[in-house]
Parts: sequence; structure tokens; C-alpha cells
Amino acid sequence: MKARGLKKDKVNIVTLGCSKNLVDSEVMLTQLKGNDIDTTHESKKDDANVIIVNTCGFIDNAKQESVETILRYADAKEDGVIDKLYVTGCLSQRYKDDLEEEIPQVDAFFGTMELPALLKKFKADYKQELVGERITTTSNHYAYMKISEGCDRPCSFCAIPLMRGKHVSRPIEELVTEAKNLARNGTKELLLIAQDSTYYGLDLYKERKLADLLRSLSDVDGIEWIRLHYAFPTGFPMDALQVMAERDNICSYLDIPLQHGSSKVLKLMRRGTTREKTEALIKQIREQVPGIAIRTTLIAGHPGETEEDFQEMLQFVEDMRFDRLGVFTYSHEENTHAHSMEDDVPEEVKQERANHVMEVQEQISYEINQGKVGQTLKVLIDRKEGGNFIGRTEFDSPEVDNEVIIDATKHYLRIGDFAHIKIDDATEFDLYGSPVHN
Ligand code: SF4
Repeated sequence: MKARGLKKDKVNIVTLGCSKNLVDSEVMLTQLKGNDIDTTHESKKDDANVIIVNTCGFIDNAKQESVETILRYADAKEDGVIDKLYVTGCLSQRYKDDLEEEIPQVDAFFGTMELPALLKKFKADYKQELVGERITTTSNHYAYMKISEGCDRPCSFCAIPLMRGKHVSRPIEELVTEAKNLARNGTKELLLIAQDSTYYGLDLYKERKLADLLRSLSDVDGIEWIRLHYAFPTGFPMDALQVMAERDNICSYLDIPLQHGSSKVLKLMRRGTTREKTEALIKQIREQVPGIAIRTTLIAGHPGETEEDFQEMLQFVEDMRFDRLGVFTYSHEENTHAHSMEDDVPEEVKQERANHVMEVQEQISYEINQGKVGQTLKVLIDRKEGGNFIGRTEFDSPEVDNEVIIDATKHYLRIGDFAHIKIDDATEFDLYGSPVHN
């Protein structure tokens, strides 16, 4: 990587963490390029002389990965391979003072809301006229759309409000403009993301406006799939479900992290709900949007979780039969409410419980997938890998959910196109099929 001493800076952005961080990197990329600064994202060419690391500070593993990435580039700077190293994102927001002391090779650390200051390092200005214009780094046919920033919820285990601040909704007009620009550039699938998407509008419009937002985005020409992520169970805007049921281009899909299945632990987590209320909500969602695929996320090993509580969560997973499920082990995060409790579940027990939940879910997922054999499903083709085309149904979000595998030695499909695929076989987490030509 011999990039040092280039006449004109060449910048490479490295993104860690979640899709919300990826959108921040895309906004950064757009602003730097908008200022005529030669910028790439996750370039493998190693020809950049300036590196920007957009970090994640969520839980232990993510923090460790962020620190290791910074140190790798700090070494590259010491070895004279790069000129400048800047760090931004959640880890930088949360631990700026410590990081400045521990890794002095970094030229500057920025918080999550400090893009204008970062741009100043390149003698560049934040261009307001570029708001709503975003260069995406995902496959051309799908894009993440961050509908709000921050979170007002008091969840015991979560450090995100410490890094992302209070909930701030983006205006519907601005999001519609962004959707139109994305559609013009080839986006067919919009993935709506936030810390808490169901809170949308309460700050800006003093009422929940998710249903209105969904309707407005659904009216944008060229957008064929809209997918809702990061819903919160309490105060759920039921009118949003009606729009989901009415509009063909809103996926019958909902990502709603529920975190636990025991009312006692939900109380310890300060989630503002109970197992009974959660079950009633899931039942209503399934009634209002028949056939909807529900994804959830759970945490194993929260302080105070007993074996009995855990057995209750297992029973909850068996009873609810979620279509998609992910599970984290509890991470003892300083300055969160739960940090004042004793982290009393041993690490190996946390991991055993998480593994047990996934074993139960694997069987459920297998059974649900078997039910799809023989069906013909609309599939968005994402990529070609080895001898197969890989796609997703409306029930699957990129990178986290199931995929549809089509033999590319027998069939030709175009990446970014929708195809109707007859499902011939299924495993726990994948479907196999062949195109149906009408
Ligand atoms: S809603 Fe999500 S982001 Fe907000 S505090 Fe709870 S877990 Fe954290």
C-alpha cells in the first residue's frame, strides 16, 4: 500500500457495524465526492493515502473489531504507508477521550454528528444541496434508508442512546425526495431503518406518522419493495399494518426486536411490555397482515435472568414460531442502566442459552421453509456466486435472512431483476428453486 505523498488526497472509507452506520458512510462518501475529493468505500485497492474508519461501539465484540481496525491503520501510518487517519462513528462518540490518549497516531476523532467538522479537514464544506442525494454502496437494486436518528427509549442494556442521542425523525418530504433519487438510480427495494422506526414522527409531528410515511414512499415510482426494520413493541402504530396490507409494494415483512419472552426479564430490561402483551401484538400483526414474515432479536443472559426465565423464553420461541430470529448474548455496557446490576450470568451460560435458542429456531425455520416447497415466489436476484444465482423473497432481508439459490448452469437470470421461482427444495435457512417462465 504505497500511497503516501500523493499530490491529491485519495480517501478510503471503512465501515463497521450496522446498516445505519453504512448510511452514514454513504452520506460521507456523497459529501466528499460532492467536494471533488477522490473517495472510495471499502476499496480493496489499497491506493488511498487517507483512511476514515467509521466505527461501531454497540457491544464488546463490535468494539473490539473497531479498535483492531483502527490499530491496523495506525500501524500503516507509522509504516509510512498512509498520510492521514480519521476515526468517526459510535465508538469514537462514546470513548473519544480514551481513544485520543491510547491511539495518538489517529489525526482526529469525530462523533456521530460531526460530519461538517470532518469535512473541514479536507477544506470541504457540508453541501446542504446534497441532502437526499446519496451514493449507495449496496447492490444497485436495494438501498437502506435511515428514517430517523437516535432513540428515546430507556432499555436497560442499550448504549445506543449514549452514542446516537435523542430520537430525531427526518421529514417525510425529504425521505420522499431521497426515495425518488434512489429509484432514479436503479433502487427497487428500500429498507427502512432507524433505532426505533415505530416512534417515527412523534418528535417532529407530535404524532406517530409511520403509516403516512409508508404510504408516501409506496407512491414513489420504481420502488417495488419497501421493507420495515427495527419496530418497537410498545405503542405500535397499528395503522401502519393497514398500509402494509393495502399496498403490494410494501413487503409482508416486519423486523421487531423483542429481546426476551419472560415478563420478569422484560421488566428488568425496561422494555415497557410483558409476554402477554407481546403475544397479543404478534397475533394482531399476523391477523392484519396475513402471511407476514416476522423477524425478531433476543438477548440471552441479561442480569437477573434465571434458568427458569430462560426456559420461559424458550417456550416463547416455540409458541411464537418466528420466521426469522437472531440472538445476542448480553454485553455489560458501562453507563447503561443494566451496568448498575451484577452481570451474574456466566459467559459460557449466556452462550449455551443463545445456542439453545438457535437450535430451537433452526427446527422452526426448517419446518416453515418446508411449507414453501412447491410454491412459486417472487424473488429479487442479488448476485451470482459460484455456479448459482442468489436471491431473496419479500420475506427476507439482505445479509440476515434466508436466500433462494438457483442453479446458474441451467438458468440465466439478471442481477437486480425480479424472477418468479418455483421452490423445489428447502433447508433450515435456504430455499432452492428454478425460474418459471410465463
Ligand atoms: S429501542 Fe433499541 S436503540 Fe433504543 S434503547 Fe431500546 S434497544 Fe436501544
